[in-house]
Amino acid sequence: MEFQLIERIREATAQSREDVHLGIGDDAAVLAVPAGQELAMAIDTLVEGVHFPHGTAPADVGWKALAVNLSDLAAMGASPAWAMLALTLPQPDEAFVEGFAQGFAELARPHRLALVGGDTTRGPLAVSVAIHGFVPTGQALVRGGARAGDAVLVTGTLGDGAAGLRLLQRRDPGLADDPRATYLLERLNRPTPRLAAGMALRGRASACIDVSDGLLADLGHLCAASGVGAEIDVQHLPRSPALLALFDENASIELALSGGDDYELCFTVPAAQVAAVQADLARLGCGATRIGRIVEGRDIAVRDGERPLAPARTGWDHFPA
Ligand code: ADP
Ligand code: MG
Repeated sequence: MEFQLIERIREATAQSREDVHLGIGDDAAVLAVPAGQELAMAIDTLVEGVHFPHGTAPADVGWKALAVNLSDLAAMGASPAWAMLALTLPQPDEAFVEGFAQGFAELARPHRLALVGGDTTRGPLAVSVAIHGFVPTGQALVRGGARAGDAVLVTGTLGDGAAGLRLLQRRDPGLADDPRATYLLERLNRPTPRLAAGMALRGRASACIDVSDGLLADLGHLCAASGVGAEIDVQHLPRSPALLALFDENASIELALSGGDDYELCFTVPAAQVAAVQADLARLGCGATRIGRIVEGRDIAVRDGERPLAPARTGWDHFPA
């Protein structure tokens, strides 16, 4: 049974790449890193009931398991190449595996990402994807390079995924036919990793991180790594029409600041380069909005225009104190 499931996954995700000398089927994958490139690697686990709600469509789980990893590569400015998949299933559920593999493959295909191996075991439903990508030697985007005076920008819009989750938790039956609700749920279940944006930021962004745990938490990590503080203005937070239509001003700000599940990039650039970077990212489709600036110190100051704010929650923490 296990081998049939693996075969299903292999077929659904088939992708030929010259740098894959041996993929699924042997004891280990054998892969070639191109000359002049460094390998960027990341791994993320999704656990049912923690990272995705019970009842999430298998195809959405497959998409998201890959998307959150691609988002980590995007934040490094890396281009994706290979993935490995560790699947833990309560039972050998062919329908789940089929749907999962389809959703995974749908996102993998346009990025020419090859699934090169993995592991299949029995236990509570959980999915780990390990991803490997390339970045030209020395050009990886890191968290630690922001300097006082740099502008802080984010791609896309913030708060949509967390808003989608809130709608699910409310179980409002009227929302099923509301295209704005559909949009927010799509953003929750099928986030778009900003790979092209990350690659375009090579050699330009002084620091970069992807927003998975909430803007304040992740900007906090960027600032800590860089030894700087930041000032942001909530009036500048990019929020989608759907978020603004279905949530009031305060809720939309809270979701955009701390909701998490955004998978947008938060990055810093020297102020003189903001316009050029924004023009490039607009061409790539996601755009980038300036939300504040880097300052000396350690703190993140949040303003609403002239009024200082004290946000209640800074983000998602798996092990809160
Ligand atoms: P081993 O016992 O040598 O670890 P397995 O029986 O676990 O090998 O796996 C057989 C092959 O199938 C290996 O190449 C492994 O990488 C691949 N594989 C197993 N599970 C998965 C999975 N969920 N997704 C992709 N490849 C998998
Ligand atoms: Mg094994």
